[in-house]
Amino acid sequence: MRPIALVTGASRGIGAATARLLAKQGYDLCLNYRQQAAAAEALAAELQGSGARVLTVQADVADEDQVVAMFQRIDQEMGPLYALVNNVGVLKRQSRLVDMDAARINHILTTNVTSAFICSREAVKRMSREFGGLGGVIVNVSSAASKYGSPNEYIDYAASKGAMDTLTLGLAGEVAGQGIRVNAVRPGFIDTDIHADGGEPGRIERVKSAIPLRRGGHPDEVANVIAFLISDQASYMTGSLLDVAGGR
Ligand code: NAD
Repeated sequence: MRPIALVTGASRGIGAATARLLAKQGYDLCLNYRQQAAAAEALAAELQGSGARVLTVQADVADEDQVVAMFQRIDQEMGPLYALVNNVGVLKRQSRLVDMDAARINHILTTNVTSAFICSREAVKRMSREFGGLGGVIVNVSSAASKYGSPNEYIDYAASKGAMDTLTLGLAGEVAGQGIRVNAVRPGFIDTDIHADGGEPGRIERVKSAIPLRRGGHPDEVANVIAFLISDQASYMTGSLLDVAGGR
C-alpha cells in the first residue's frame, strides 16, 4: 500500500512541486487548496495519470472547523495519513510595523502558524502510537526570513516563520516518542507566484543578486528537500531546520 501524504496549499508553487515529486516517489496524495479548484483538479488529474490515488480537499487551513472536516474526509476517503506538509503561507509586501493593523497581523499569523498548529494536531492524533497510529512525518515550510526578520518588508511574515521554527522544535520533542518526526525547511527566494506583486521596481533583481548562488531557487529544489525529510533516508532527523536558500 502506498503511504498517504497531505500537502496544504498544494495547487501551485512549492506545494504543487512537492505533490508531484511525492507522487513520483510512490505516495498517494491529498491536495489541499482554498480557492484554486481548477488548478488543484488539474494537478490531481496529472498525478492520477502517474498512478497515484489523489483526493483534492477544499479547506481554509486557518479555519479550525474546516481543518477538522478535511482530516475526517481523508480518514474516510483515503485511509491513515503518513505525512503532512504544512506548506501554506501568505505575506503582504513592503510595509513597516507603523503601517500594520491588528487585522493584517492576525491574518498573517493565523494563516501561517495557527494553521500549522491545528493541521499538526489533527495529524498527530492519527499518526501517534499513543492513539493507535503507525507513526508519521511532519514537514513545516518555514522561511529564511525567520533568521533575518525582514525589516521594512514584512516583519509579521518573518515572525510567523520564527514561530514555525519554534513549533518544529517543540513538537519534534513532544512526539518523538510516538513515532513521529517533525522537521522544517527554510527556503530563501524561490520563483513562485508569492512574488507576483514583486514590490518596487528592481527589487527582485536586487534580492537575487544578494544570494550567494546568484539566482532564485526553483520550487523543485525545495520539494527535493521536503521529500528527503519525509523519506526513510532522514530516519534519524527530527527537530531539524534545513535552509534551502542558495547560501543566504
Ligand atoms: P504560493 O503563493 O504559490 O503558494 C501558497 C499556497 O497557499 C497558494 O496555493 C495559496 O492559495 C495557498 N493558501 C494561502 N492561504 C491559504 C489558506 N488559508 N488555506 C489553504 N490554502 C491557502 O507560494 P509558495 O512560494 O509556493 O509558498 C509556499 C510556502 O513556502 C509558504 O509557506 C511560503 O511562506 C514559503 N516560502 C516561500 C518562499 C518563496 O520565495 N517562494 C520563500 C520562503 C518560504
